[in-house]
Amino acid sequence: MSFLLKAGLVYTGTREIENGWVHVRHGEIIAVGSGPPPQAGEVVDEPNCVAMPGLVNAHDHMYQWATRGYVPDGTLFQWLRALYPVWARIDADSVRVAARAAMAKLLLCGCTLSTDHHYVFPHGRPGLFEALVEVARELGVRFHPCRGSMSLGESRGGLPPDSVVEREDAILAHTEEMIARYHDPKPGSMCRVAVAPCSPFSVTPELMRDSAALARRHGVRLHTHLAETLDEEHFCQEKFGRRPLELMEDLGWTGDDVWYAHGIHLNDAEIDRIAEVGTGIAHCPSSNMRLGAGVCRVEDLLRAGARVGLGVDGAASNEDANIAMEAHQALLLARVRATSPTALDARAAWRLATRGGAECLGRDDCGSLEVGKRADIACFRVDDLAHAGIKDLVAALALAPPARAQTVIVNGHVVVRDGRLLTADEGEIAREVAATSARLAG
Ligand SMILES: [Zn+2]
Repeated sequence: MSFLLKAGLVYTGTREIENGWVHVRHGEIIAVGSGPPPQAGEVVDEPNCVAMPGLVNAHDHMYQWATRGYVPDGTLFQWLRALYPVWARIDADSVRVAARAAMAKLLLCGCTLSTDHHYVFPHGRPGLFEALVEVARELGVRFHPCRGSMSLGESRGGLPPDSVVEREDAILAHTEEMIARYHDPKPGSMCRVAVAPCSPFSVTPELMRDSAALARRHGVRLHTHLAETLDEEHFCQEKFGRRPLELMEDLGWTGDDVWYAHGIHLNDAEIDRIAEVGTGIAHCPSSNMRLGAGVCRVEDLLRAGARVGLGVDGAASNEDANIAMEAHQALLLARVRATSPTALDARAAWRLATRGGAECLGRDDCGSLEVGKRADIACFRVDDLAHAGIKDLVAALALAPPARAQTVIVNGHVVVRDGRLLTADEGEIAREVAATSARLAG
């Protein structure tokens, strides 16, 4: 059975088609056009919407939805030190509840493909990674979970307390097990696993090197935090005598199978190097502003030819999960940094939120509305009070703070309709996350 989406404006990522349509079969886009539409078994008509490629979230920590609002005015290291003991209490149930909230919010805001970087595995609490994958299936998100890790505890000079770090042989064995169980490399895949030691200040160089070798043995991607704060840079200089990117290059993290979160404190040569080797950067403007981490040099990265996507980062440093908002923030922040209104235009911001994120995650079958791509589509209303009458609708959606999405389609399935989630009960998720947050607060 085929599916047809009609919209007042279809923005494919490169073209803008008035009164356009997208024709889908078996989750794949088979035609995009305007004028008389083809026959289809199911039709969704959104004359008051802009339909665009489903948004892509290239960095997140979904368990953090249950620990929002802590250390509202601290630096990254202050914030982490306060939260590690709270995170030490998580179990499969709290991860499930938090992930349902995070994924529901992402879907309701037009995100169709998301990663999650889960790196807290308290001793004796099984099933955390499994819970994330099950929630993505339940809610209908295209999902790239990262098996994260921490192994460098305080007693060995790391930042996290010893109580939340794992043994390295156990990390590597569990990572391999999760890849074998869940990673699907096929085109159109709904689940791909990545390997993601947390950061240079919470894992050993040996684990970074071993993780890269493991990922390459299995043909999966590599992810970590890098160059997020000057504290991290000082840590790397003092402990390893290297700048963060130099350290990662020494450890074999060079290539187009790597994407880093943040990439703020990079010098000119490092920006050129990132672009040259095809490494991705997930820019997380809300989190970076919240923590006062600095401003990613997005324009310079793009000019150098780097792959740049957007991430919401964990909700404990954002208090939200809205990729359209990150596109809005990225646009404004780039202009503040450059003191120029031409620094990042709306279409470039949407490219970060779609194709750019898909490139970070290694997806050439997602991120635009073209024949042969997966049918991941977000429709935003433009006849409401916030947007009605704005001259340039694609620009309007990035210049104004975003609204919730009206209709969201993942792999040809409608998961949000009339601004409501079809795959779960939003009210129930909110009640459960309130109870879980209270329990974790202790
Ligand atoms: Zn992060």
